[in-house]
Amino acid sequence: MLARRLSDDPAVRVLLLEAGPAEGGAAVRDPARWTELLTGPLDWGHAYEPAAPTLHRHIPIPRGKVLGGSSATNAMLWYRGHPADYDAWGPGWDFAALLPYFRRSEDRAAGGDEWRGTGGPMHVEREADPHPVAQAVLEAAAELGLPLIPDANGATNAGATVPEFTVRDGRRHSAADGYLAPVADRPNLEVRCGVRVVGLEFAGERCVGVRDSAGQVVHAEREVVLALGALETPRLLMLAGIGPADHLRDTGIAVRVDLPVGERLADHPLVTGMTFHARAPLGPVRGTGGGAMLNWCSPGADRPDLHAFVVQGPHATPEVATRYRLEPPVFAVSPGLMRSRSLGSVTLTGADPTAPLRIAPNLLGEPSDVEALGAGVGFVQELGETRALRAVSAGPAAPDRRLTAREREDFVRLATSTFFHVAGTAAIGPVVDRRLEVHGVEGLRVVDASVFPGLPSCNTNAPVVAVAERAADLIKEQP
Ligand SMILES: Cc1cc2nc3c(=O)[nH]c(=O)nc-3n(C[C@H](O)[C@H](O)[C@H](O)COP(=O)(O)OP(=O)(O)OC[C@H]3O[C@@H](n4cnc5c(N)ncnc54)[C@H](O)[C@@H]3O)c2cc1C
Repeated sequence: MLARRLSDDPAVRVLLLEAGPAEGGAAVRDPARWTELLTGPLDWGHAYEPAAPTLHRHIPIPRGKVLGGSSATNAMLWYRGHPADYDAWGPGWDFAALLPYFRRSEDRAAGGDEWRGTGGPMHVEREADPHPVAQAVLEAAAELGLPLIPDANGATNAGATVPEFTVRDGRRHSAADGYLAPVADRPNLEVRCGVRVVGLEFAGERCVGVRDSAGQVVHAEREVVLALGALETPRLLMLAGIGPADHLRDTGIAVRVDLPVGERLADHPLVTGMTFHARAPLGPVRGTGGGAMLNWCSPGADRPDLHAFVVQGPHATPEVATRYRLEPPVFAVSPGLMRSRSLGSVTLTGADPTAPLRIAPNLLGEPSDVEALGAGVGFVQELGETRALRAVSAGPAAPDRRLTAREREDFVRLATSTFFHVAGTAAIGPVVDRRLEVHGVEGLRVVDASVFPGLPSCNTNAPVVAVAERAADLIKEQP
């Protein structure tokens, strides 16, 4: 995003370094195949530290390793949550400030209005012919009193709707497709792939360049912008001595600036396993396999904090798949908690840049998160009993019967995985200022999900794009 916007000015030279390849191949292009990208050469291979609240289960946390980053490997849902999420980010980053950037980034197939944009780099469209299971889920939600809303990115996000995806003409439309491909021939924009940055170069307090894993140093004429994502950006900062002083000393790294890098790691917990037996074979996956989105409130919430989407096929943690009978045809309705309170951290396990990270998000660490997700499981079980869902479902597969409140919480612990929304590890406030510049050094900025001072109640691609759009203006207006 940034590379495109900054190189709009022919007087500015932009160098984009990416560790992964320029192209991901057929599985990246085909929206139906995104689950194949959860592991493999286009993934960084990270996993969460096993923890008691999730029964010490192994929970991978995929991150895209290809031009376009995770937008080239994600599930493509385009959703920006609730305005209040951003109002909590404070001046300059509140919803009113970000709305023009959300709109500027968009090319919405269904047209623009005061909330939505057209003509921007990110093409977003709906599945033209949603799967009958997705349609049944929308009708089931309406039976339970959830309003059917025209656009979850419009006037309200509370309700059930046919979602929009970063898909164009049946193909994934990543940030690289939307922002970079149309300007690939710019003489002032160079993209180098297969280059892993492992260090920052300093002259006094000023960051003057980066060092890659082959030892090559690249000097920045103006500034260095880190956009490595919410796990690799804090790694690079800490390797450069910018992080919690005690942790850096314990790891054998000289402290440059004592900052709480890696702290307040946030993610949305996702119940991965609420599965139903289908009455008939589901046929080929349509679109991304989604096709219906529900946003509703857990008891006591003043705006939606629960969000569910449909999966045309099994969608379960290995532990759920072992305990329950999930033979096809099955489909899933997966609820996630979008305003979880549990926060964790990412830290180094050594000064070697390739050492595994210790990623401890503390999923379900707060009892209120378990309660809210338990309510989400209860709601999806009720969906399964509606007339509309019984028309396409032969009954629940996992859980295979109605659960008590206590049993629902046990199921939550067995089934919770990641919604893939890591953020907050170099947040506006404690680590970067409101212009996204790292405190205590010059010439170094962060522009990715790390800077989120709070996790919005949505999937995180659209907010990252909006943040990058605004960052481009901040950088351009700087003398
Ligand atoms: C499986 C999955 C499904 C998801 N589904 C959705 C969804 O449906 N909708 C949605 O809105 N969001 C979704 N997300 C989340 C969303 O895609 C991410 O939040 C968003 O793309 C993060 O953007 P980012 O710029 O912070 O980091 P990233 O997109 O991860 O980009 C970081 C880039 O930096 C590169 N990099 C990292 N370290 C180095 C280094 N040392 N040297 C050089 N390059 C480096 C990486 O290879 C990558 O290209 C999903 C994510 C995943 C993984």
